[in-house]
Parts: sequence; structure tokens; C-alpha cells
Amino acid sequence: MTQRIAIIGAGPSGLAQLRAFQSAESKGDVIPELVCFEKQNDWGGQWNYTWRTGLDENGEPVHSSMYRYLWSNGPKECLEFADYSFEEHFGKAIASYPPREVLWDYIKGRVEKAGVRKYIRFQTAVQNITFDETSKQFTVTVHDHNKDVVYSEVFDQVIVASGHFSTPRVPSFEGFETFGGRILHAHDFRDALEFKDKDLLIVGSSYSAEDIGSQCYKYGARSITSCYRSAPMGYKWPENWEEKPLLTKVDGDTAYFIDGTSKKVDAIILCTGYLHHFPFLEESLRLKADNRLWPLDLYKGVVWENNTQLFYLGMQDQWYTFNMFDAQAWYVRDIIMGKIALPETKQEMTDNSLAWREKELTLETNEEMFTFQGDYILELIEATDYPTFDIKGVNKTFLEWKNHKKQDIMNFRNYSYRSLMTGTMSPPHHTPWIDALDDSLESYLSNS
Ligand SMILES: Cc1cc2nc3c(=O)[nH]c(=O)nc-3n(C[C@H](O)[C@H](O)[C@H](O)COP(=O)(O)OP(=O)(O)OC[C@H]3O[C@@H](n4cnc5c(N)ncnc54)[C@H](O)[C@@H]3O)c2cc1C
Repeated sequence: MTQRIAIIGAGPSGLAQLRAFQSAESKGDVIPELVCFEKQNDWGGQWNYTWRTGLDENGEPVHSSMYRYLWSNGPKECLEFADYSFEEHFGKAIASYPPREVLWDYIKGRVEKAGVRKYIRFQTAVQNITFDETSKQFTVTVHDHNKDVVYSEVFDQVIVASGHFSTPRVPSFEGFETFGGRILHAHDFRDALEFKDKDLLIVGSSYSAEDIGSQCYKYGARSITSCYRSAPMGYKWPENWEEKPLLTKVDGDTAYFIDGTSKKVDAIILCTGYLHHFPFLEESLRLKADNRLWPLDLYKGVVWENNTQLFYLGMQDQWYTFNMFDAQAWYVRDIIMGKIALPETKQEMTDNSLAWREKELTLETNEEMFTFQGDYILELIEATDYPTFDIKGVNKTFLEWKNHKKQDIMNFRNYSYRSLMTGTMSPPHHTPWIDALDDSLESYLSNS
């Protein structure tokens, strides 16, 4: 009997999974029956921008944390699909740091070409997944918001590709209850123009803090104060951007920091990270992880060791993104299709994971971290027919990117890199990032 596979989410990871199966089919394999459940009304996951915050039109938590004017925070050459280059999609070489709409277009191009939209049930939120030890099958219960019907179906395998940058981690600080301005988490940040001419406090020191602060600077915030718990971001910030140690309290409109200094602020954005959150999974199936390079309980970063009919994609901290999801999706496909055999015992899988974890614990520099992730990806793609690509070259690009950021955080997006897939050098963008206020696809792809 044909196996039935449920894929949860049609973001870059879920779409990689559909493309992986379609690729096998195009080479003559008979593939299982695929059903991809996507709660949004379109594909692309985080890259499918919405103005909404809080609950969506169906009362589901808004998934995307994406904001207007976002440009890729790393070179596109590091995330390029090995089976579908930017050049193939756009018909020409384009600059290295595309805005959100351009990346969304690229993601969509590959799956449109593959013809996999037919597998996706949109506006269908997965509510509950249980596993029956007797039948060895999953029951997946979903809410189809198109028809407002809740129904259940049975599957042999489940692939969780629901992302982990959607459920905000929200700390509280003394005085928040009576603060006069707006307090929001990065998940609800949509438009930097809201903070034009405002004194802004950003709590946090990771990517969101760096990028949301930079957006607000670019679109005219009067001042930015960012504060950190363990270490400053340490870039050379513009004159009106100050880094402070941890926020201790807010009194009225004044924020106080642990070094005794204070600053009057109009708004506070909590760039304090996200939780891995799977409210639809029964306890025995639920991954518990932080945002780290090697979450435990996942053999090869994807197979749920307690039940090898369950898989997770994209649950790692992400240096690599789209091509890592591909490597994982091709690997999962080949396990499901019996081309890759799993170790005979759970212990062997756990031992393998623990060895990766031990190595992860020794990593100190950025270079060590992305090299570690690159090694992991290489191991996966060597086991499948995903096109091999120059991972050392990608690591080198990551390193250059980091150095450019150190030199000038407001200028790094003006550099260009060579594609590791096609060998083509990217052209410089027509306008320096700081002056390019129009982030539309048309503007980005135009010649001036
Ligand atoms: C603000 C922001 C900026 C980023 N910038 C970059 C960048 O510049 N470069 C980069 O490479 N990466 C970036 N990322 C990382 C980003 O997470 C990945 O690029 C990518 O989107 C992850 O893909 P995914 O499919 O794993 O998850 P997601 O993109 O989050 O997709 C998950 C999908 O699952 C669906 N889903 C969730 N729960 C359910 C449910 N219960 N039922 C049905 N469907 C469900 C969601 O609607 C969504 O479509 C950024 C992330 C954020 C939040």
C-alpha cells in the first residue's frame, strides 16, 4: 500500500521536502502520497509577508516575524539552492543581498517549476498529532479554515517543518506595566517608519536586535539604545546608536541599565528570541530544543530518535538556511523511500547525536560554527543525489561577510560575492543599502 506522508508547513523547509520527492519522481521513482498542511493562504513561510500581528484572519497565531524593508542578512550566495540558481530564476546575475520580496520570488520559482503546489492544503492549521503504537500510524487533526471544518487523517510518516522563529520569548522588566510608550517583541515589528524621530530601546544583541536597529536607523529613528545580557554586539555603530549593558528597570519613560546609566525612550522592542513551540504534537513526539547548532534527540539533525517515523526539518540555529533544508529534505526522503538505512538501535542514533553535540560544545568562533554546520550538511548530501556544492567556498563567503560587518555594519550589504553554484560574480547593487528606501522587487532588479 502507498505510504502517506504529512508535511507540516510550506515554508522553505516544507517546500524543500516537496521538491525532494518531486525530484525523485522525475527520475523515475514511485513516490509516497504527500499532503502538506499550511496554515497561511500562501507558501514561503517567513518570507510570505503579512501586515497582521497577533492573530490572523482565522484566529490562528500569526506565523511570520517578517518586516518591511528586510534585506537578506547574509549573502544570497550562502543560501542558494544547488539545484536552482538565482541566475536560472532571474535570467541574469543579481546583487548579493536581496530584499524579502526577491527571495520570496526565488523560493517560489523553484517549486512552481517543480509543480508541487497540488500537494498543499492551504489555510489548514494542524491542531493535533498523535501516534498509535498498535497501528504504527499517526492521526493528524487539522482545521480547514476554507470550509471551517475540523477533520483527521491517518499517515505513516510525519515531517515537522513548522519553523522556530514564530513564538516569541518575552521577558518582563520592572516598570513595563506603567511605561507610557509602546512595548513590542520583534515578532510584531512590521515597519521601521513607525519609529521615525523616536528614541528607541532595543533589548537583545542577536540578529533581530542588529537588523531591526539598523532598519530603524535607516528610516530615521532619532536615537537607538541597544542593551545586552552577556556581550555587546560590538560593531561600530552610527553616532546616535549606543550599546548598554542589561536593562534593570523602566520608570515612566526612562530606562535604567545595570551600569547605573539611564536614557529616556519612546518605545521598546524586545529582540529576545524565539521558542521552539509545537503545540500540535503529543508529548512523546515533541522536540524540546533551544536555538542551537545541535539539538538533541534528532539523529542526523532530522530523525526523531524516539520514533523514527517522525522527522523534523530546519530546527537548528541557522548559519546555512535554504540549502541546509534541502540537504535535510533529500536525506529524509531517502530514509522514507528505503534508500538510506537507519542504525538498528536507538542507542546508535543517540551516540551519533551525542558525538555531534560534544563537538558543538567545543566551538568558540563564528568560523568554527559555520564550518561545523557545513560539515554536517556535507555529510547529508554525500548520502543522497542532492547536487554537491562547494561548502568550503560557502564558509569562506560567510567569513568575508563577517569581516565586512566588522568593518562597517551599515555598509556590508554593498559587497558582492561569487556564486558557489554557477561561478558567476554578482554585480554590485545600483544603490548603497543605506540610501535604498524602496525594497520592491522591481526596484531591486532594475538597473538604477
Ligand atoms: C525576521 C526574520 C528574518 C530572517 N532573515 C533571514 C535571512 O536574511 N536569510 C536567511 O537565510 N534566513 C533568514 N531567516 C531565517 C528563516 O527562518 C529561514 O530563512 C526560513 O524561513 C526557515 O524556513 P522553515 O520552512 O523552516 O520555517 P518557516 O519559514 O517559519 O515556515 C514554516 C511554515 O509552517 C507553517 N506552520 C506553522 N505551524 C503550522 C501549523 N500548526 N499548521 C500548518 N502550518 C503551520 C507556517 O505558516 C509557515 O508557512 C529569517 C527569519 C526571520 C524570522
